[in-house]
Amino acid sequence: MADCLFCKIITREIPASIVYEDDRVLAFNDINPQAPTHVLVVPKRHIASLGELSDGDDQIVGEVVRRAAAIAEERGIAAGGYRTVFNTNRDAGQTVFHIHLHLLGGRSMKWPPG
Ligand code: 5GP
Ligand code: ZN
Repeated sequence: MADCLFCKIITREIPASIVYEDDRVLAFNDINPQAPTHVLVVPKRHIASLGELSDGDDQIVGEVVRRAAAIAEERGIAAGGYRTVFNTNRDAGQTVFHIHLHLLGGRSMKWPPG
């Protein structure tokens, strides 16, 4: 998608600190990290928000979630715990309309979130 920030990261028009890539999924460090580990895991195919998902997207959503879990394992934060978040639309604070799973860890988290 032409004016999507994360599509531009996927195509390397905008640089990012990439931590994982395969044919369908990209993961990169958040530019404004909220925890020692703050990675964004995205499908390479543009999907604006969870509200845009259809039946055919079940596989890619599973891949995104499982990739976040794998990165948490690699970083050694899985046993201690980590948080995964999809922000959706205004009230949740979604600012980039290309779905992305936040993987946050390396510190203890509070609940409820702000
Ligand atoms: P949202 O608020 O939509 O759930 O999350 C968007 C995230 O993208 C934010 O955590 C923000 O820091 C991150 N972000 C915004 N612009 C950039 C960028 O240019 N590069 C990277 N790596 N992250 C970005
Ligand atoms: Zn996009």
